[in-house]
Amino acid sequence: MGSNAQGIQTIATQSFLPKRTKIESIKLSSPNQGWVRNLIDKFNTGDKVKIEATIKKGDEFMHYNVYIKDPNGNDIDSKINQTANSFSYVWDSDSNSAGNYTVWVVAYKTSHEAEDKKSNGFKLNPAPNINIEVQENTGNGNIRVGGTYMYAENITLDCVNITDGTEIRIEQCEFDGKNWWYNKPVVGGKEYRFAVRAFDNKGQEKWAQVEEIAENIDLEDIMPLGWESYNYTIESFDSILLSAYAELKNRFPGVYVNVKNGVRVNTWAGLRTQNCPIGAAGSAHKTGEALDLHHPTKLSELRSFCESAEGLKLGIRRIENEPATPTWVHIDVKQPNMANWNDKSKPYIFYG
Ligand SMILES: [Zn+2]
Repeated sequence: MGSNAQGIQTIATQSFLPKRTKIESIKLSSPNQGWVRNLIDKFNTGDKVKIEATIKKGDEFMHYNVYIKDPNGNDIDSKINQTANSFSYVWDSDSNSAGNYTVWVVAYKTSHEAEDKKSNGFKLNPAPNINIEVQENTGNGNIRVGGTYMYAENITLDCVNITDGTEIRIEQCEFDGKNWWYNKPVVGGKEYRFAVRAFDNKGQEKWAQVEEIAENIDLEDIMPLGWESYNYTIESFDSILLSAYAELKNRFPGVYVNVKNGVRVNTWAGLRTQNCPIGAAGSAHKTGEALDLHHPTKLSELRSFCESAEGLKLGIRRIENEPATPTWVHIDVKQPNMANWNDKSKPYIFYG
């Protein structure tokens, strides 16, 4: 009896010892990402944030409430009167703005005393953001595209040659934490669409794109000797003229203006700078609107092509007549004399 009584007493004593209610931990995870520990930057707006809490219960335990607090400290969501040992809830951040959020668990005892615990919180980053621009297209068969990015990673670039419809492989880009870039070898005269894609850490993707005609022009070839002493650049030329020349270089390899196979053979066949002593005052060469094309073997084919509807399609509007230009083809993009331009499906032939 005494033994039994002692046993009961022992049990009774034990059961009357107060046990503390204790909130063991609060953990945050993303359904896509698994556990996230101490990674407060790993969420983007629109993510679903999984909130888990473990509650160690004692005899005085009654219930607990879970609150999510927004960056201003307001309760924006709550789950009250929870009683299970562990708590799990997926919170959808879809309509919430970027900022720092906190999870707050408050456990109540039968005595109505409360014990609370706050999580370290988590940061909702804005959705991934990326932009693209052409940074260099200086005429050496290479385009550099790039831009900035935020809250994004795994940046890749798709490139399509729009002119002939060929798709170029997806490439990994260079990036440094804020800027990204890629140097893309291209064929001059062709138009390209560059599309950049970035993912955030949950796999959300964002695209940006730009279209550009690749220049394939050597400035030395279209400038006179000593041009560097003046403020002339590739911008001194009409861009349609340059793209026409780039396309002619694709179709008639070997075509040149001033520089033949790397050797300067002419001075004033391209841009005529302000110190030019020759040619007409109103020449299209002086405004970067004309080029005198040379070719060692295919000059007549080149002329026929330029004078055809194909030439007009490239943007060539005027060509000087052959007898006046026996060893070159003068092309320009100036407005023809409409009254004299009989066949408007082809460039206008003028007599200089
Ligand atoms: Zn000319």
